[in-house]
Amino acid sequence: MSGRVVLITGGSRGIGLACARRFQELGDHVAVTYRTSPPAPRDQGGEPLLALRCDVAVPEDVEAAFSTLEAELGPAEVLVCSAGITDDGLLMRMSEERWHQVIETNLTGTFRVAKRAIGPMLKARRGRIVMISSAVAYLGNAGQANYAASKAGLVGFARSLAREVAGRSVTVNVVAPGLIDTDMLSALAEEHTAALLSRVPLARLGDPAEVAAAVEYLASASAGYVTGAVLAVDGGLGMGH
Ligand code: NDP
Repeated sequence: MSGRVVLITGGSRGIGLACARRFQELGDHVAVTYRTSPPAPRDQGGEPLLALRCDVAVPEDVEAAFSTLEAELGPAEVLVCSAGITDDGLLMRMSEERWHQVIETNLTGTFRVAKRAIGPMLKARRGRIVMISSAVAYLGNAGQANYAASKAGLVGFARSLAREVAGRSVTVNVVAPGLIDTDMLSALAEEHTAALLSRVPLARLGDPAEVAAAVEYLASASAGYVTGAVLAVDGGLGMGH
């Protein structure tokens, strides 16, 4: 299966960019959204990426990105929702604004993008949606109540949507990464990362390409009978949850 139109939110860096490169290698037509700067040409491979500026927390940005995508490449046949942020702090000190910002980007942003993508998929009677959650959705993490809630919310959202659209052969699945070597992880305090790493049976960080491999599978023809699943890519941290 190649030559599909693939849209990846948060595809300028990290896991989203690794997914973009993987789909490029497969011969798909790939668009990525970014918030601040597009992926550097040196970070791309294969056919150039269509880079769309889009803050998933802004409804007009999402509509504009889909309009450009559909005009340039056609409707998305595969959607990977990878855009995400953290804004950590203990609950006692967490402002409403920090709570809302993380929920708005990670959960509501994914709702917004999936809602816009689903119409053409239902019409075509095929489509793949993969949402990037996190191991902390299941395990919790002190100082990440907003982030863990947003990522746990994605699981309920994905499973509900999976049931809604299964009749049209559209699948909706979740990948739950553990500690992956990206900018997001570098932002964590070193001792915090070391403490988390000590709980990983495979005793190393994951590579973004290892998450991309799971996303590739869930978007592939081989995964045609898989929907509503959560695939952990976490070195055993959650033992499949
Ligand atoms: P990075 O911080 O490396 O990249 C985040 C990406 O999301 C960037 O492309 C960024 O764009 C984009 N983004 C952030 N906010 C928005 C927004 N409001 N609208 C559009 N795009 C946005 O993170 P990772 O690659 O590590 O994370 C990717 C996903 O994987 C996230 O959802 C994260 O929660 C999840 N994850 C990561 C883990 C890890 O250990 N790294 C573990 C578990 C889950 P820009 O560059 O423009 O800011």
